[in-house]
Amino acid sequence: MTHYLVGLIGEGIGASLTPPMHEREAAALGLDYEYRILDLLELGAEPSDVGRLIADAEAAGFAALNITHPCKQLVMEVVDELHPAAERLGAVNLVLLRDGRRIGCNTDWEGFRDGFVDGLPGAATGSVVQLGAGGAGAATAYALLDLGVDELRLFDYDVGRAAELADRLAVAFPDARIAAIPGVDAALRSADGVVHATPVGMAHHPGVAFDPAVLRLDAWVSDVVYRPLETELLRRAAATGHRVLDGGRMAVGQAVSSIRFITGLDPDAERMRAHFLEL
Ligand code: NAD
Repeated sequence: MTHYLVGLIGEGIGASLTPPMHEREAAALGLDYEYRILDLLELGAEPSDVGRLIADAEAAGFAALNITHPCKQLVMEVVDELHPAAERLGAVNLVLLRDGRRIGCNTDWEGFRDGFVDGLPGAATGSVVQLGAGGAGAATAYALLDLGVDELRLFDYDVGRAAELADRLAVAFPDARIAAIPGVDAALRSADGVVHATPVGMAHHPGVAFDPAVLRLDAWVSDVVYRPLETELLRRAAATGHRVLDGGRMAVGQAVSSIRFITGLDPDAERMRAHFLEL
């Protein structure tokens, strides 16, 4: 039986839920599968060491590595090949190690797309506002456009970052209307839905990045933050009657898609979500 050795490279990832998610699903699929954490802090490594860490993993027989903050962009420079979506959206969160080659993939966007379809069935996708244009935001924006969003308005405190993402996505989706906007208040009032892709709402970063009370009553709200699963934003949005999508869907979805890339087998997404909710 093939022994799959898989890892996660990132900073401060000791408590990540990804290893148990992968290992439990792989066991259910009858695979011999081991998932290891390679934490930059524990290894005394810098983000720029990602190429060396991948070389060490290749030598140790790893089949693949998930990549997380702060290496998702840096790693693009040390792969041999980029999967088309990873190239178009500009971030890699999975490197497949195959026959001496490193193939950079992105499963975050598929995770968000699948979670969106399952968690907000029938959601209107005419005009969407997204807050946050970082690593997670690049993936969610790409997924939204792949799902057919007509108008995507991107807001980030770092105006240049939102503009850069808008320009990049305009190349991949020439028919969509994509704009970086200088403020969100007016855009929020008319949006069909909002994706929140900033760290606001995480346990160590409490609060909300916007007030969902300004939204149309039929607008949906999606959060990428998944610790806690019910963020202040989603709690408030649900209280005012909005449909909501938690960040756990994307977290599980990227793991589903990663296992599919690594093993070629189809994980059971519902079983994985049930596992995730127990963790
Ligand atoms: P990042 O630092 O790459 O990007 C965050 C962006 O948000 C930055 O560009 C920053 O300028 C902007 N920002 C911060 N506060 C803002 C505000 N109030 N208004 C507008 N813009 C603001 O971070 P990231 O890697 O994109 O992670 C963001 C969040 O997404 C984190 O909470 C992370 O845990 C979560 N995440 C979730 C998943 C998932 O699978 N659900 C995957 C990746 C990341």
